[in-house]
Parts: sequence; C-alpha cells; structure tokens
Amino acid sequence: MTAIKPEISLVIPVFNESEGVTSFVANLMSIVTSTGLHSEIILIDDGSHDETFYTIAELNSSFTNVKGLRFTRNFGKEAALLAGLEAATGDAVITLDSDGQHPPDLIPEMIVKWREGAKIVHGVKSAGSYENRYTRARARVFNSLLSRFGHINTMGSSDFKLLDREAVDILVHSLPEHRRFYRGLADWMGFPSAEVPFTVRDRESGSSKWSTLKLMSMAGVAIISFTSAPLRIITILGMVTMLFGVLVGLDAVISVINGKAVSGFATLIISLLLIGSFIMISLGIIGEYIAKIYDEIKDRPVYIVQSKIGFDDSDKNS
Ligand code: UDP
Ligand code: MG
Repeated sequence: MTAIKPEISLVIPVFNESEGVTSFVANLMSIVTSTGLHSEIILIDDGSHDETFYTIAELNSSFTNVKGLRFTRNFGKEAALLAGLEAATGDAVITLDSDGQHPPDLIPEMIVKWREGAKIVHGVKSAGSYENRYTRARARVFNSLLSRFGHINTMGSSDFKLLDREAVDILVHSLPEHRRFYRGLADWMGFPSAEVPFTVRDRESGSSKWSTLKLMSMAGVAIISFTSAPLRIITILGMVTMLFGVLVGLDAVISVINGKAVSGFATLIISLLLIGSFIMISLGIIGEYIAKIYDEIKDRPVYIVQSKIGFDDSDKNS
C-alpha cells in the first residue's frame, strides 16, 4: 500500500465509544476534507469492553485514511494520546476527544493559526464550559497551583490541541516520562503558541469515562511531574512547627521562673497529634515522589498494542 503522506493527523483516544464513534468520524471526515489537506485519522482503542474496535475496523473499510490501534487493556487516556502521537506521520497533529466535546468545526481555525506560525494551538475552554460552580472552582484551584508552583499555564487548558511536527517529535522522543500529563508537557515545551477558545458541549452519546478517582490521580501526576513545591512546603512546615515549639518552651521556662506550675495537658496532646499528622502527611508526600521515581525506573512501556488496522505493518487478520 503506497499511502500519500498525510499533512495532518488526527489523534483520537476512544474508550467504550462504539455508540457515537461512527457519526463522529463521518462528521470529522467532512470537516477535514473541506480543508483540502491530506489527512489520517488515528483512533486508539484504550481497551474498550464494547464493540469499539470492530466499529473502527468498519470505518477503515469505508475510509482508507482511518487507522486503528487497540490496546491490550485500559491504559488510560494519556497512554492513548502518546500512542497516537507516536503513530502519527502528519506535518501537524490534532488531538481531540471522540464525544464531540472538542468541537471539530474549530479544526480549520487551528490550521490557520498553525499556518500563521504557531507551533502549538491550544483549544481553551471558555468560562461557560464547566458543568457547575464546583467543577469550575476545582479546575481553578488545580490550574492555579500548577501555574504558581510548576510555572506552566494550564488555565482553561484541554487536550484539544494542534501540534506542529517539531513539537510532536520532542514530545515523543525527548520527554520519555512514563506518568505523563499531556496538557502540561505541551505548555512546558514553550513553543510559540496560539489559542482557540471553545465551549464544552454536552457529550453526543455515552457518559464520561472519568471517575473522581482517575481525576485525582491525574492531578497528582500533574503536580508531582511539574513541581517539587510540596517537598519544600514540608520543610517550611517543619520550621513553623519548630518555632511554635520554641515559643511554647520559652513560655514554660518563664512560668517556672515565676514560680507558676507548668500546666497544659490538653496543649500537650494537641501538639502531639498535630505534629504526628504533619509527619505522616509529609511522609505521604515524600512517598508520592518516591513512587514516581519507582515508576520511571521500572521503565515499563506506557501501553501495549494488541492489534493495528490501516497501518503499513498492520496484522492482516485483525
Ligand atoms: N478515554 C480514554 N481512556 C480512558 C478514559 C477516556 O481513551 O480511560 C477517552 C474517551 O473515549 C474520550 C476522551 O478520552 O474520547 C475523553 O473522555 P471523557 O469524555 O470520558 O472525559 P471528559 O470529557 O468527561 O473529561
Ligand atoms: Mg468528554
């Protein structure tokens, strides 16, 4: 098969999305075709339990530029994005969700900004995109922490992005971390960038694949990958506790000098509990960093591909 080299690659992680993926790809195809660019659409099935991969195979028989990768199990969206970026061959790569929440109609605008010189075009969520005040506040706290301590800007940031080939190559070859945070890494590279604002719509079908636990784990990965501030906070906390101890100590000495009995059984218990909890939390934080080092040092692959469709080296029987 002698395929024409694509100018633009679309990378789409899919997990249990058989319900909506066909209409999504059909719509995407018409938008991309209207740009007049040669394209490839790479769908990464992140270990779906439904018919998603079968649907991808059907799409591939209708459109030769649709390709599919299937993971052996659910490795997570970050792993799927990496697999897609590694497999993509386009001069630019656009990453987007398969549920219509990243509006494909903005792709032509992203391409214009790329042509104007931006190496990365970020799809940025507008304020009205959040489901409620709680999710907005949660995103704001998380992004402010990252920007304050990690010096990366993820405010309103999403995984809907266009990356120039130069940025893709660096992301894939020079940033070999295993526990990844795509949004943060894209900003961290520091290339000239542009933004395209969008409002997150309701999902076209199915339900969100993120549990609160998965979200918390992603926040943990992001913070630990981009800043060692929590470790420094432990030191500061230790100093504050020491100062408190010195003050209480002085107070005790003065009381003894003045002939007053040193009282404060309650104070003793409270300080013991407080200091005990500070120590345990601090150990937990240090533990998180050690766990990250442990994960990196094991050097296991980020994902395992079970089968491929539409690639030159695809399994013929898949
Ligand atoms: N996704 C994935 N692996 C996962 C969870 C999600 O590949 O473990 C995909 C999912 O199919 C979708 C995208 O990542 O295309 C975003 O997921 P979702 O819409 O569930 O997240 P939300 O929009 O709620 O943040
Ligand atoms: Mg979604």
